[in-house]
Amino acid sequence: MKLFFDPDLLIEESDDGKVWIYSSGNHKWLKGNSAVKILVKTIAQNSGIVDFEKIKSEFIDHRPKLSDEEIKQAIDDMVKAEIFFYRKANLEESIQQFKREYQIQKSQPPKIAYLHPTHRCNFHCWYCYNAKITKDKSNELSTNDWIKSIEKLEQIGIKKFVITGGEPLLREDLYEILKRTKTTTISYELLTNGSLFNEENFWKLNSVIDRFVISLDSLDKEIQGRNRGIKYFNHILKNIEMFSKYFPEKLWIRSIITSDNINDIERTRRELRERYNISNYVATIFLPNSYEQIPSMPDIKKLIKIENEHISEETFLNYGPNYKLKCGGGTSIIAIDAKGDIYPCQNFIEETQFKISNVLNDNWYDELMDSPIRERFRKLSVNEKEICKECPYRYLCGGGCPAISWRVYKRLDAFLPFLCEYLRNDARRRLMHSSTVKVR
Ligand code: SF4
Ligand code: SF4
Repeated sequence: MKLFFDPDLLIEESDDGKVWIYSSGNHKWLKGNSAVKILVKTIAQNSGIVDFEKIKSEFIDHRPKLSDEEIKQAIDDMVKAEIFFYRKANLEESIQQFKREYQIQKSQPPKIAYLHPTHRCNFHCWYCYNAKITKDKSNELSTNDWIKSIEKLEQIGIKKFVITGGEPLLREDLYEILKRTKTTTISYELLTNGSLFNEENFWKLNSVIDRFVISLDSLDKEIQGRNRGIKYFNHILKNIEMFSKYFPEKLWIRSIITSDNINDIERTRRELRERYNISNYVATIFLPNSYEQIPSMPDIKKLIKIENEHISEETFLNYGPNYKLKCGGGTSIIAIDAKGDIYPCQNFIEETQFKISNVLNDNWYDELMDSPIRERFRKLSVNEKEICKECPYRYLCGGGCPAISWRVYKRLDAFLPFLCEYLRNDARRRLMHSSTVKVR
């Protein structure tokens, strides 16, 4: 019997003996044990030819008396999981089928909109991607125009709105806008620096917002100060306490990991849980906004070590192997700036060559769906990227964010050497925490 398989078959193994077999070309995987690993390796090394005697000899130390029936059963399981194929044509079809699934369809409307009620901010974080954006208040959409815009976006099927900025709480009419547009099917997530809640807006906003995300880089004043400034530090802690008392489950804290706070991330995570009963914590790596900012990135090896030791299984179960497949910019995600201009994602705001339309235009939807900019993003593929296209982790990794590629190299599809190792580790971790069918 001869089996066919993707030549880039990956075998990942955890310290406790679990094994993941990943077929790169068709993005299929299964979870097994050391016996599965031996079986796959033996068959792969024998160019797909199933030599029962050879396989049994590999199992002498593990499972003496392995029968032909057991081997056949295990192979059948792997054929069902599309790791092995009885016919070459079926392998090729599986690879082509996945390529088709990977491509976002032109007719598929966006699902998530990032709204920027304002670009003004009361903070001056040194790494902010928004720093160069015009902060002219007079250009901002009025209350009624925002209501109209959200209604238009909802009509095309957008159900998740991420309200960001700038600092969105600087818009005093924020609650009014959200109250008048909130429906049971709309989900609102608010990204904020956490400094401007008070007794009044806290309760009002909690009646319309489904999830709050406060950006906080450390519970240590000095460390937080180095990244984000210390001016509002005590206010932020007071506001976190308020959430902790009334709605701990609705609050997420997000830290940007820089070289300044990398050693403090675990303490922040622990203290948030112990002192504030906040267990929703996410720390994301600082991404450079220019070539010059690359040296400000945290030490990648150190970060990988911390993440491998501390990041919980649940995190990866939420963001499994399909998570990084493809950037959704311009296709499943759009961003609306304070003037109502539409961009592929918030990272391109005021890069005028990426402006798609304005949400208040009568024909904005046609302009969006037929936009050559949207088409450019839709066609971005890790299979076209130098270096990444040869990488067996490519579909698990996605090859990194096109906005970072644009900022650093002025291209949307550059390989990001300063991130590759980190992205690969993340891809491996997501695969190795996936809950997939266990094979005997
Ligand atoms: S460009 Fe980057 S930030 Fe924007 S949607 Fe794509 S991956 Fe996300
Ligand atoms: S960034 Fe690195 S890990 Fe990711 S696809 Fe490219 S080469 Fe592979």
